[in-house]
Amino acid sequence: MSEVVPFVTAYCVLVGLVLGSFINLASDRLPRSESLVRPRSHCRMCGRQLNVIDLLPVLGYALRRGRCATCRTEIGVAAPLVEAVSGGLVLAAIAWLGLWPGVLTGLVLVAFWGLAVIGFAFRMRENAAA
Ligand SMILES: [Zn+2]
Repeated sequence: MSEVVPFVTAYCVLVGLVLGSFINLASDRLPRSESLVRPRSHCRMCGRQLNVIDLLPVLGYALRRGRCATCRTEIGVAAPLVEAVSGGLVLAAIAWLGLWPGVLTGLVLVAFWGLAVIGFAFRMRENAAA
């Protein structure tokens, strides 16, 4: 039983990272009243559709050296940071509370983190419009 814990933990952290990626998408699109589903993720500058490498949480940013692979526009450090914090919250909660209820606690923390980030994005958008 206990020998599967590292793998389950790694999987849960991966889920946290992917949720962080979704938080980035939501905080980018919701303040602009855009759909979360369509169009598929793309570079805002050149319109290139993002591929598997671009979409890897944190790692994609590192592999692309923080820039769009096509137009070289800077992605901004906020995106991998939001993803890293999301994965980190899940990892910290599991390390602190054990796999259960660490997983649940971590996901709740990621949900609050997501709300905070998306709320911040809305505030930024309002300030930019004012
Ligand atoms: Zn681009």
